[in-house]
Parts: sequence; structure tokens; C-alpha cells
Amino acid sequence: MVNYKDLGLVNTREMFKRAVAGGYAIPAFNFNTMEQMQAIVQAAVETKSPVIMQVSKGARNYANATILRYMAEGAVAYAKELGCEHPEIVLHLDHGDTFELCKDCIDMGFSSVMIDGSHLPYEENIALAKKVVDYAHQFDVTVEAELGVLAGVEDEVSAAESHYTKPEEVIDFSTRTGCDSLAISIGTSHGAHKFTPAQCTLVNGVLVPPPLAFDILHEIEKKLPGFPIVLHGSSSVPMDEVNTINQYGGHLEAAIGIPEEQLREASKSAVCKINIDSDSRLAMTAAIRKHLAEHPGDFDPRQYLKPARENMKKMYIHKIVNVLGSDGKLAQC
Ligand SMILES: [Zn+2]
Repeated sequence: MVNYKDLGLVNTREMFKRAVAGGYAIPAFNFNTMEQMQAIVQAAVETKSPVIMQVSKGARNYANATILRYMAEGAVAYAKELGCEHPEIVLHLDHGDTFELCKDCIDMGFSSVMIDGSHLPYEENIALAKKVVDYAHQFDVTVEAELGVLAGVEDEVSAAESHYTKPEEVIDFSTRTGCDSLAISIGTSHGAHKFTPAQCTLVNGVLVPPPLAFDILHEIEKKLPGFPIVLHGSSSVPMDEVNTINQYGGHLEAAIGIPEEQLREASKSAVCKINIDSDSRLAMTAAIRKHLAEHPGDFDPRQYLKPARENMKKMYIHKIVNVLGSDGKLAQC
């Protein structure tokens, strides 16, 4: 059993408090590979931003849970080596679906876990979240729970239809579970195909998805003043990356994300954690496809992973500075 504090990681409590008060959001980037981890740390250090590195069940299956935990420990050391004396890095489990999985992560050094019982009946969601909270809080690990269902597909999490969070349930849910933050459903969606073209309106040749339900967000904020709110499925699916992928042999049809202006707007509210996964996948794939198409003789992975890492880093910095506003927000530099 190892405690995250011994690894130099932090939980989300203090950073969320500052983010809610300061009107910005902390980036939560998913990672599976060394290049993603390096790009995330470089971006966070250069912008002096706190950062949440999150691991899904799929990432654990792909990369191995133990390796990912050592990578997070390495991320702290790497940030210091890059000149950041007091990095604020959270290692978070994304979409934990059982108590056992959450416990396993806490016991191996995660500083934050999500227990996603959103697909369960209300009372069962509460019971499961409370069980995780009771265990996690013994070790000062923070817990994110979810109310409402997001549509879309992300690793092993998928739902055909979304159900908006019911504002009338949030007080009861947060009080009885004791969770530290709440993921809500207000129209974001998992994956790179968040909406069908039929759900969108065509504006100047661009498909614009339906707006986020800011009225529901504001109602939730009124019920739980200052309580940290989390948005999942918040990639923007930039068209230039999709176009690059398609130009160099890919075939991504109708990839549509959440417009960045809406995320910027949400960041100013009690939304203090925004999850971005697909945009990193798109940035990586676009750079690799372009490089290999232009350099057909290359076969050393470093030749195409280097531009991939650069492209992801550029995207992470853009999100931090232009969308979430978490640059320069470390407690101590
Ligand atoms: Zn999610």
C-alpha cells in the first residue's frame, strides 16, 4: 500500500476550491503512453498550471496499472526537472465502475478516483459512491461521483442516450455520498462523434451542435454554491486535425465536438474540471499520419512520435491558456 503523498502527487480539494473561486477550470487529460505523459507535463510546467492526469479502465488494460502509477510518479519528478519546484499533479481514476477498482487505485497511489454509478438506480448510485468515499477519505483521497448520463462511447463506457442531471437531486446526492466533486450531464458527450449531423445546425458551412444546458448548470450552482462541478466528454474535435487525418489516408466521418466558447463559458462557473481525451488522440493521430505520408521511408518510432508529442503539447497548452484559463494558477511556482 502506497500513499499518493509519498509520490509527490496532490488530491483535487485545494485546486478545485481555488478554481471555483477564481472562475477557471483544471484540465483533466487522459493518458496511456509515455509521449502523452511527457506532453501533458511539459504543457503544465510551461503554463504553470495544475493538472489532472487521468487513467481510464481501458488505459489500465492497455498500459498496465502498475506502469501508469510509476509514470505518474515520474511525471512529478519530470516536472521538477523541468524547473517547476511545486508541481500540482493529480493522478485520477476516470470512470471507476466498482468499489474494488477504486480501492485498488487508492492503495497503489492514486490521489483521486471517480466512482461512476450513474447507470445505476439512484439509491444504488448513492450507496456505491458512499462506500468509495468512506474508504478514500481515510487516506485523504478525493472522490468524484456522477449524476445523470452522458451519451457517447469512451473506452468501455457507453450509453445510447443522455439524461440530463436533475437539479432537484444534487443536494441529497452530494450530502449523502460525501463526494468531493460531481460530474453532471448537461449535453456534453464522450468520444469524437458526439453528435449526428441531424442534431446540428449548419452555420457558415460548419455543423454546430446543440448548446450545453447552461440553465441546468446554473440551477445546480444555485443548489450547491461553490461545490466543484465536473464536465466529461468535453473535447472540441478540432476540424483541422480531423481534416489532416482524412487528407493523409484516414476516414473520420462526421466527427463533431463541443465548441470551445461553450467550455470557456462553463469554466467561469462552478465547473472546475474539464475532461479532454479525444482531442489528444486526434492530435497524435493527425501528426503521425502526416509524418508517415510525407516520409514514407521512416520506420523509427521516434521519427513520428516526436511530431505527435509536439502536436499534443500544442493542443494541451491551447486548452490551458485559451479555454480553461488555468495558466499561472499554481499555488507556488
Ligand atoms: Zn467520462
